[in-house]
Amino acid sequence: MRDTGPEFGFGLYFHWPYCTRICPYCDFNVYAAKDRDTEPLVAAMIADLEAQRRRLPDHPEVDSVFFGGGTPSLLSPAQMALLLHKVNDAFGIASSAEITLEANPNDVLSANPKSWAEAGINRLSVGIQSLQDEALKFLGRDHDSTQARTAIDAAQSVFDNHSLDLIYARPGQLLKDWEAELTAMLALGAPHLSLYELTIEARTAFGHRAARGELMPMGDDEQADLYELTQAVCEAAGLPAYEVSNHARAPEFESRHNHIYWASGDWLGIGPGAHGRLTMNGNRIATEAPRRPSDYELNQKPEATPLSRTDTAREYVPMALRPVSGLDLERFERVVGVPPAPDVLEDLVSNGLAGINDNKLVLTVAGRLVADHIAALLIPYE
Ligand code: SF4
Repeated sequence: MRDTGPEFGFGLYFHWPYCTRICPYCDFNVYAAKDRDTEPLVAAMIADLEAQRRRLPDHPEVDSVFFGGGTPSLLSPAQMALLLHKVNDAFGIASSAEITLEANPNDVLSANPKSWAEAGINRLSVGIQSLQDEALKFLGRDHDSTQARTAIDAAQSVFDNHSLDLIYARPGQLLKDWEAELTAMLALGAPHLSLYELTIEARTAFGHRAARGELMPMGDDEQADLYELTQAVCEAAGLPAYEVSNHARAPEFESRHNHIYWASGDWLGIGPGAHGRLTMNGNRIATEAPRRPSDYELNQKPEATPLSRTDTAREYVPMALRPVSGLDLERFERVVGVPPAPDVLEDLVSNGLAGINDNKLVLTVAGRLVADHIAALLIPYE
């Protein structure tokens, strides 16, 4: 058996690059939606999908399809259904597959979520980001808290399997305010929450404001306090973390698509700038499609870069550390080529950053706060 590849899950990620407006913290590959004809892009994505199938004749059917972006809820239900139909023709979609749509609250309100379910979507992930009007304004969102709540109601009336995204650790956010907001969110009863700390990337509008001194990112210690509070509040409410930033009421609500990334399975990246990881002729290949939609429409062929064992290990270790199920030490040795250094493991355990259960390295809450640093300590090539 291989150490990475479709045996660990096989998913397909569609990147829809358009958004109604660009949020000031966003560093994804996104473009203003305007009033454009989207049919050429859908046609290019189908051509890409079919070409990738020709290069991967032995890959199994997909376990997961994820419509991300950008704002894929701007696709019409007919476009979603067409894309899924083409995936099924090309690769096949497992009968138990998870098929996720990321949606903006305003699209949940203006579209009919039932039509998404009829198109084949079986999991909805709604970008609520906050339940506070002031924070939504700061984040540059085009919905308010009333619209957020109405959208959650509408989503819940159709999709049992749904997730809500929130952004916290906003500048100046107080522990008590976040506790109240998170408690209000938990009371809405979603079976899955993705809770992300605001990161300010240099090339975003927030990054430019921070560089001019107009915006002060939250300090690390305050962020750590908020993270620890988040873990305690969610756990008490029956939504424990199953990964650094993700919480679920029960295993069946965990994101199977993300588990493919964390497990170093294979995934196809379809759409402008989409990344994939594919096993071809025994090699692990990183793919990246042309970033600009106009370039992608002309030539979808992704750039393909073979990954060395070192590259693969550098991706595998930080990803495998993220789920609370832990990093399998036996698999670590197969992927990395050597076992983790015993003194590093001992230090992690004695410093309360990790435990070892059933030959798996499981990070504690304190360890999850510094997961990337721990990954760097474990990789022997640095
Ligand atoms: S809606 Fe999402 S993808 Fe689009 S700009 Fe805002 S954060 Fe980025």
